[in-house]
Amino acid sequence: MNEPNKHSDGTDTAEEMTATFATLGNETRLRIVRSLWGVPGGEATFSELQAAVGMRDSGQFNYHLNKLVGRFVQKDDNRYRLSSAGVLVLGAILSGSYTTSDRVPPYAFGDACLNCDATLLATYEDEHARVFCPTCPTFTLSTYVPPRILEQYGREQVHVALDHWGRLTVETLRLGICTNCHSRVDPELRHQTEDVDVSLVAYECERCPKDSQISLGMYLMRDPAVVSFHHEHGVNLESEPFWRLPFLMEESGDMLSEEPVVVEKRIRAGDEVLLATIREDHEPEDSDKDQEGTGREVHHRSEEVHSRIDVTFEREAADETRVEQ
Ligand SMILES: [Zn+2]
Ligand SMILES: [Zn+2]
Repeated sequence: MNEPNKHSDGTDTAEEMTATFATLGNETRLRIVRSLWGVPGGEATFSELQAAVGMRDSGQFNYHLNKLVGRFVQKDDNRYRLSSAGVLVLGAILSGSYTTSDRVPPYAFGDACLNCDATLLATYEDEHARVFCPTCPTFTLSTYVPPRILEQYGREQVHVALDHWGRLTVETLRLGICTNCHSRVDPELRHQTEDVDVSLVAYECERCPKDSQISLGMYLMRDPAVVSFHHEHGVNLESEPFWRLPFLMEESGDMLSEEPVVVEKRIRAGDEVLLATIREDHEPEDSDKDQEGTGREVHHRSEEVHSRIDVTFEREAADETRVEQ
């Protein structure tokens, strides 16, 4: 069996990464990767691939192809196809993150700030889409959006691309996957009280430098309790953009406890409030001790300590004068 990627655990050393970029820093090899993606069925013989790439010199073609075989290209029974690493690299090339940069100056798209009613603006710079209120410094959303996506949405659709890509990012993190290197990441509940109170969920990747943070509201927005609560009040969380949802834009919950962190957040819709209590739950530090009979989840790798977040919900009336229907 072929082992296209012997470093499937993702632990590339700096030297290996330099070699990776050297391998791909060549026009012909990039063309081979792109052509191999384009051939019917995603695989080709040597001569089919050579024809697809359009290179006459078989010796030269063979030289470059062999540089890719093993890591980016798999060879089985004299047929070539992209390895998983090759597909990832191709995705990065196509999304434009290594090659393009573009800027869209701030424009209005017709929605107003929930705090002050000023016209919201959207902009794109440094591969980040941003929706912000020109007068409230805290009313701002920003996320990485690949340039290629923007090209397809159109320049005055930055806000739409932000909403869509933002949802994908939130979902990926909620599933415990790093958006950069696809390693496992764990949620960490944080409550900061400097200047403005901010409650957020942070995901620090141990395999790559990516540290991500999402608001508490975004962490909760896919929870069935939150979805159905809004549904009952005529709000579709799938279609309503981030900046129209107060619970997503409010930065803070109320801190009930610092150690462990426990935060309470009120989500309002109509005349009702959904009260969410969010607590961080660390695996105990002596997690490698015998835990038989405790009912705790047993981890395959006892040296890793994982954190998770527990949420409980309660409903309450928004005020005393609530009218029963
Ligand atoms: Zn505002
Ligand atoms: Zn990562």
